[in-house]
Amino acid sequence: MSWFSEVQQGSPVEVFALTKAYNDDIFENKVNLGVGAYRTAEGKPWVLPVVRAAEKALANDDTLNKEYLPILGMESFSTAATRMLLGEDNPAVLQNRTFGIQTLSGTGALRVAAEFLAQVLGKKIFYYSNPTWENHKLVFKTAGFEEGREYRYWNNATRGLDFDGLIEDLRNAPEHSVIILHACAHNPTGCDPSTSQWAEIAEVIKERRLFPFFDCAYQGFASGDLVKDASAVRYFVQQGFELFCAQSFAKNFGLYNERVGNLTVVLNNPDLIAPVKSQFTLVVRGMYSNPPSHGARIVAHVLNNPELYNQWQDHIRNMSSRIIHMRKQLRETLEHLRTPGDWSHLTQHIGMFSYTGLSEVQSLHMVKKHHIYMLKSGRISMCGLTPQNVEYVAKAINETVS
Ligand code: PMP
Repeated sequence: MSWFSEVQQGSPVEVFALTKAYNDDIFENKVNLGVGAYRTAEGKPWVLPVVRAAEKALANDDTLNKEYLPILGMESFSTAATRMLLGEDNPAVLQNRTFGIQTLSGTGALRVAAEFLAQVLGKKIFYYSNPTWENHKLVFKTAGFEEGREYRYWNNATRGLDFDGLIEDLRNAPEHSVIILHACAHNPTGCDPSTSQWAEIAEVIKERRLFPFFDCAYQGFASGDLVKDASAVRYFVQQGFELFCAQSFAKNFGLYNERVGNLTVVLNNPDLIAPVKSQFTLVVRGMYSNPPSHGARIVAHVLNNPELYNQWQDHIRNMSSRIIHMRKQLRETLEHLRTPGDWSHLTQHIGMFSYTGLSEVQSLHMVKKHHIYMLKSGRISMCGLTPQNVEYVAKAINETVS
């Protein structure tokens, strides 16, 4: 008799199961549109040249050792990451009421912050967009939140934002609820609020006394411009909000497996930094004690070196413009084939992902019949498209929806 004989089979994580099915598929023209990782025009993963340069410099630096980092991580990294998000001239930076915590990528930042919030909030309700990155729910629930609720986001009829629904749901949220907001390049829809819509969202959040928690996994990936992609977060800070923002360096640095992220904490009073930091320290100490150094050293090396910083911005522009180009090509090919429906949303959306509007049945058909791997929600990653396979994908979509 095992201690574990009662353990039930858990449900697979869709995106990882999809990648495995893709890898196991022997069909020559198979396409992976599931994975949320950048691919070159040849369909290959890309290690950014600035990352290689930083790794070489670090390998030759004999002053570095393998000692523990502080519990909240490497300060030269978290300070640079926070400034990259908020800007040097941000009021919270100038008034010394913000700090960063080095975390295990974006997921780790979400988890550490959710755990802290679950400890200090009375009611523990979080709100996420419908749809959202599927891990938000699991992260907040395992961190001790009692209830997760949806706010409306996607309107399938318009293939755009259900802004009225979003505002109504936030208006009805109980005070002190935590609202998860995608800072830019919304995953999975690729559809972001406009500047004026962000202003309205901020107003409701203020009025209803809700707590804004930004998830920023794609800074630079939406527009190719780091400042522009941070504008929603910066706007909230300018409006005087206290907020958290989970930053991931997986996508914009191509550091998927290094697990390097930052939690930016913005408070309204510098005196609160010490007690808040001390509680975060206890959260991290009880969870994984202290973070690993490799990824943080790479990012800090680049962010703190003006020349490499500029080169890195070029890399980001390369990646985002290839994505924008593939969006265009897919739309044009679908229109050329006279595929039923309106495909303009493909070029209106931004970032890595788009909701195609394909139903679950149609998405499964794409996988089964055409060996084109995509989530059953109809989400595709533009990074999986290349000049070589875009026509094959468009023809498959055409066959599927016709
Ligand atoms: N939030 C969102 C919306 C994401 O899409 C991702 C990456 N898929 C993350 C957070 C976190 O990713 P990571 O932990 O790899 O940084």
